[in-house]
Formats: sequence, C-alpha cells, structure tokens
Amino acid sequence: MNSNKKKIIIVGQGISGTFLSWFCYQAGIDFIVIDEPRPNVPSRVAAGIINPVTGRRVVKVWLDDIIIPFAERAYQAMGAFLNLPAITKTAIVDFFPNPFMKESFLKKLAQKENYISILENEAAYAPYFNYEFGIGMIEPAYVVHLQQLLPAWNAFLKKQNLLLEETLDVSALEVHPDHIRYNAITATTLVFCDGTAGAANPYFSLLPFALNKGEALLIEAPDLPSGHLYKKSMLLAPMAEPGIFWTGTNYIWDFEDENPTAAFYQSATQTLKQWLNIPFKIVDHKASVRPATVERRPFAGFHPVHTNVGILNGMGTKGCSLAPYFAHQLVEHLRDQRPLQPEVDISRFKNILSRPLQ
Ligand SMILES: Cc1cc2nc3c(=O)[nH]c(=O)nc-3n(C[C@H](O)[C@H](O)[C@H](O)COP(=O)(O)OP(=O)(O)OC[C@H]3O[C@@H](n4cnc5c(N)ncnc54)[C@H](O)[C@@H]3O)c2cc1C
Repeated sequence: MNSNKKKIIIVGQGISGTFLSWFCYQAGIDFIVIDEPRPNVPSRVAAGIINPVTGRRVVKVWLDDIIIPFAERAYQAMGAFLNLPAITKTAIVDFFPNPFMKESFLKKLAQKENYISILENEAAYAPYFNYEFGIGMIEPAYVVHLQQLLPAWNAFLKKQNLLLEETLDVSALEVHPDHIRYNAITATTLVFCDGTAGAANPYFSLLPFALNKGEALLIEAPDLPSGHLYKKSMLLAPMAEPGIFWTGTNYIWDFEDENPTAAFYQSATQTLKQWLNIPFKIVDHKASVRPATVERRPFAGFHPVHTNVGILNGMGTKGCSLAPYFAHQLVEHLRDQRPLQPEVDISRFKNILSRPLQ
C-alpha cells in the first residue's frame, strides 16, 4: 500500500484525538493524526480531574458506572504502553462552603448515594485550610496526568510516522463519496477531533456548540499534602511536579478572546488567601475555551451527507472521562457498524446538518 494512503485522517490530538488514535492503533486500523500544536488548547490547560458527582445537589455524573471505570482502564492501559503513570486514583476533600451545601450533601448521604461520606476527623486539615462548615469526602475521584500523557503519545505517533504537526486547512480537503484527499494523503475517512475549532468548521458548525472559557492558576504550595484533591468554591489538584497545584476554575460564556483575565486572577487569589493557612506563590495563569454543547452531551458520528467525514467533539467540562469511552465507541462503529450511544450520535441533528455547508 502507498504510505500516503490511510484509512483514517484524525484531525486534532487533544484528549479526543489521542483516544481515537489510541483505539485505532489497538484495533490495527491504519490512521494518521494531523495536529496543530497549540499550548493553550483545553486538553493542555485542564487539571485532568474526574469527579464522579457534580453540582450543588451532589448528583452522580451521566453514565458514571460505565464511563468512569472504562476511563480508568483505558488510562491504565495507555500508561502501561507508554511507561508512565497516566492516572491516579484519589479522593476529593470537600470543604462545605456554606450550611446549605452541607445540608445537600447530608441529604444525599441519607439516600445512600455512592461516592460520598462525611470526614469524622475534621481537625486533620486545620493546619492547612480555613473552614467552618465541615468536610465531606468524594471517592474515588481521579487525576489524569495530561501533561505527561499527551506529549508521550505525541512522541510515539511521531516516531511511528503517524503524526503531522500542522494546521489542516479545511478548504483544501477534497471530499469524494469513496475517498478523501488532503494534499498528498488519501484516506477513506476523516474524523474531526478539533475541539473549539469545530464550532467554525464548515462540516459541523451547525451543531449546537456552547463554547465557554475557563481559567486556572498554577500555585507553588510546598507545605500542602499532595495525596488528595481539595474543593471549596474552587478546586485544588496536585500536579506531577512536587509542590505544584492546579487551581480553578470559572465559566465565562461571553468572551472576546482566549486570554487569561485580571478579574479571575484577583478573585482566585483572594479565595486562596482566605482558604489556605499556608504560604503559596502563583507561578502561572492559564485560560482556554471548552468545546461544550447546549445539551451537555458530546458529538460523535458521521455527517449525514458527507458520510465519510466524522466528528468526536463536544466534551465540555468532562473530556477526561467522556473521551476514552466515546472514542472507543466510535472505533467500534467505524469497524463493526455498532450503534453509537443515542445521546451522542450526531444523527440526531440529521436535518440541520443536511443543509448546504456553511
Ligand atoms: C480551565 C479548564 C479546566 C478543565 N478541567 C477539566 C478537568 O479537570 N477534567 C476534565 O475532564 N475536563 C476538563 N476541562 C475540559 C477539557 O479540557 C475538554 O473537555 C477537553 O480538553 C476537550 O478535548 P478535545 O480533544 O475534544 O479538544 P481540544 O483539547 O481542543 O483539542 C483539539 C486539538 O485539535 C487541534 N486542531 C484544531 N483544529 C485543527 C486543524 N484545523 N488542524 C490541525 N489541528 C487542529 C488543536 O490544536 C488541538 O490540539 C477543562 C477545561 C478548561 C478550559
């Protein structure tokens, strides 16, 4: 076979493109990844947290009992393959920010909700934090080591000649019913895992994206124990480098650019000063835009008219847990025509996507 002839072109190597290419590799499906290396894409700014519960009412996340164990196994397998710790199982120490949040938590506890318990020995955290309303525990939670995993998979792909580090120019794509050409590459299929760029991509811009911007600080806090995640109105997560913690975040729906804002810097610094009892130093401030969707469900599947052009996107705030499961499902769909989860299958937008390309 001509080496420029591929079965699949995968556009993007954030978490979605990483897992799509990983499962193609596992399944022996011929592919090439084209990724524009940008440092501030969400997969490179995210903390990598998988939290099994969400919101003020402490509800279990969607498909928790399927998606989270699947993600844990997928990260472990990829970590073993790349010889690095890709995921750490941990717990979230949840400092109740007010009596109402405590009440919600206790209500869920009384209903015997999974994942949550009350910490009896509250005093254990007094040397490090200020808190008044008690502490809940959420476990298991996970930290995915994206800062190690994504570059390691990138290096592997490069070594195997399976990666082009460049921007794919969508207008230069030649999409024919039985093949796709992009410069010297011919493929049967192309899947966009292009994150927020998907909202301006002529094939998929009509999907109901709801992009939102989020920010984080990296702080140096050498006295803070690194065994857990900590949550009050913000989250603190230990990074692989000792003494360094990620902290965030916010949700900005109306934004002009992807840059960090002074407002977040100030409010996050203030919150940390009130919350932490130990010295800390801010070492970085990052921002990125989440590829979120109106329905809060990912987009997976193939275009109704250009049926060899696909998408894996819309991971919103939960790329770390959703991307492995739905990348795997998309590979099974491609290989064995297995159905996709109806809530993510873009065939639900058949009518709108059948309009002329934007
Ligand atoms: C502050 C913040 C904190 C977050 N924290 C968490 C968290 O703790 N846990 C969690 O699960 N999620 C978190 N998220 C959400 C998570 O980051 C996203 O869900 C996830 O990264 C989306 O991954 P993706 O691969 O779909 O898209 P992206 O990360 O955007 O990757 C898309 C890739 O495609 C490339 N690309 C785009 N267009 C082209 C083109 N034309 N040619 C070539 N390459 C192209 C981009 O350069 C990029 O590399 C957070 C997000 C933010 C902003």
